[in-house]
Amino acid sequence: MTYPEARTGSGGAARPEILGLHHVTATVDGAQEDLSFYRDVLGLRLVKRTVNFDNPQVYHLYYGNGTGDPGTLMTTFPYGGWGVRTGRHGNGQIKETRFAVPLGSGGAWHTRLSEQGFEAVLGETDFGEPGVLVLDPSGLAIRLVESEDGRVPWIGGNMDPGMAVTGVHSVMFPVRRMEPSVDLLTGLLGWREEAHRGESVRLVSGNGGPGGIIDLRGDPGGTDGVNGLGTVHHVAMAVADDASQEAFRRRLLEAGHAVTEVRDRQYFRSIYFREPGGVLYEIATMPPGFAIDEPVSSLGEGLKLPPWEEANRSRIEEGLTPLD
Ligand code: ZN
Repeated sequence: MTYPEARTGSGGAARPEILGLHHVTATVDGAQEDLSFYRDVLGLRLVKRTVNFDNPQVYHLYYGNGTGDPGTLMTTFPYGGWGVRTGRHGNGQIKETRFAVPLGSGGAWHTRLSEQGFEAVLGETDFGEPGVLVLDPSGLAIRLVESEDGRVPWIGGNMDPGMAVTGVHSVMFPVRRMEPSVDLLTGLLGWREEAHRGESVRLVSGNGGPGGIIDLRGDPGGTDGVNGLGTVHHVAMAVADDASQEAFRRRLLEAGHAVTEVRDRQYFRSIYFREPGGVLYEIATMPPGFAIDEPVSSLGEGLKLPPWEEANRSRIEEGLTPLD
């Protein structure tokens, strides 16, 4: 008798899946004003206070819900004072970073933001969802979108649960040519086209709700964005594990995309590649998460360094502006 051939490729990575967005990372100006906006005005939790692993003289601040779940995370590199130019918004760059807020809370947000001195504008997304658009202290466009969202918000900062941010809603970016950007998402990356309206298309991943949405807007005549202060550096998508990440990495390489090696970001592992419209994408693992080096109860309180920078702690601490 003969044995059946050994089956291969039946592991979890055989059909790797993007589970949604993981985080959005921006280059911003001053660290204290950034912290004051995302923590005290938007009410997110500071879930990690660390440094830019590629330039440990600069903070890397992570904001999210109470446990810093992927899909709730906004992260910033405060490069104020480093001579970094101010960026220019345009094609091939995230134009709006959007957070989900409860249905009906747009008016309360408009009042809260206005009272704190921010110019907030009530308005809808291209797909008709109401909300508020505001510029953060560095000039990033932040839109709060009224959404049905089952995720549990952080209310430890005295946020009213009736208006607390439940996580990232979506990112929106304009591109000169829509097709190549859509094709990469719906093809190799497995996103699904959910809606089309005017020049805009909505793509979804995972369960499809807030936290798993990318909106693209065709802008053939627009100028290209330039990276710098006040711009989004990249958007990260989440995968379950290293095997899924490796499967996507192989697929991307086979399709001719330039993808980085896997980089250890301490709280997740990452690969990076540029999509055809110009936006930098990252694929990040869900594990190990933010409780790897401090308890959930005190996330974000102390300066955390990756093991390879611990020897330089005193020098690094001396160079960083203290934050309240
Ligand atoms: Zn990232």
